[in-house]
Amino acid sequence: MEKTKCLVIGSGPAGYTAAIYASRANLSPVLIEGIQPGGQLTQTTVIENFPGFPQGITGPELMDNMRKQAVNVGADVRSGSVTDVDFEANPYKVTLDNGSEIEAETVIIATGAAAKYLGISDEIKYQGMGVSACATCDGFFYRKKVVAVVGGGDTACEEANYLASLAAKVYLIVRKPFLRASKAMQDRTLANPKIEVLFEHNTVGLYGEDGVEGVHLVKRKGEPDEKYYDLPIDGFFLAIGHKPNSDIFKKYLKTDETGYFVPADCSGVKTAVPGVFVAGDVADPHYRQAINAAASGCRAAMEAERYLTNKEA
Ligand code: NDP
Repeated sequence: MEKTKCLVIGSGPAGYTAAIYASRANLSPVLIEGIQPGGQLTQTTVIENFPGFPQGITGPELMDNMRKQAVNVGADVRSGSVTDVDFEANPYKVTLDNGSEIEAETVIIATGAAAKYLGISDEIKYQGMGVSACATCDGFFYRKKVVAVVGGGDTACEEANYLASLAAKVYLIVRKPFLRASKAMQDRTLANPKIEVLFEHNTVGLYGEDGVEGVHLVKRKGEPDEKYYDLPIDGFFLAIGHKPNSDIFKKYLKTDETGYFVPADCSGVKTAVPGVFVAGDVADPHYRQAINAAASGCRAAMEAERYLTNKEA
């Protein structure tokens, strides 16, 4: 069976950064890209908040650069995805979708998370043309414009408040007659003069010629006073939660109720299984930013190196 000192699972900023650091520490890492090579950033347009790019950079270009950098310093970057793991005893066994197995002394899990979408076809049609699942990433493009945010949790309220600092007007589309967010966040949202909360509203679809120009809504669906109407907007933001890609590891590693890994200590990357580390969005329910993911990939690789050094000592 093939053996490696360091196996990195996932190819977002966390995975590539881990591979770069592990390569430079002579761990000859193997990186398995997963089903979405480059991760969530390949679905965004211009990124203006990743340091080092004064004019901004597109998500696909940034990820392509990271991949090239990882390969240039010696990482063995492979397509394919991991279907199963066995963390019972070190070296750990990892099974790939082509049926092959790899034995790894350290494993860095950087499998990311995926924003949840409503499941309507217009979300795909207008992706990158007015539909976004990240206000911090794309809010800047809606300065002085009108946007809508879907969701009633802390993320939706946080994003609505963030967008309100840029946009002319923010509609918050909430399916229930109340917000699920914390009391403090609710108060802040309801007190913001730029935010109008549309309770008991559901999104039916989006419309527009070359991008989003409005949203088809239904108010109090199924009730006697049910009402369908159109609301002109320039941007449509999803904030109905994320799903971390942690399912195949849950047997061995601790997760919270949503599925995010709970690190074993303040390093933020160590787990209770020695030599297994987590990095990036799959262990980050709060920040979900590329720069944080990259930073945790760096920490995970440094901890993997320390683990191997201590093991050999
Ligand atoms: P949540 O699961 O808390 O909220 C999701 C929201 O989206 C709910 O209002 C839910 O509605 C709504 N929703 C889900 N599916 C649909 C759908 N198909 N159509 C319409 N609306 C839908 O997710 P969050 O991302 O907001 O938060 C995740 C966790 O992270 C929470 O524990 C939160 O407290 C935490 N967090 C904390 C922050 C902070 O402390 N600053 C910031 C951000 C998140 P419904 O209520 O009807 O189910």
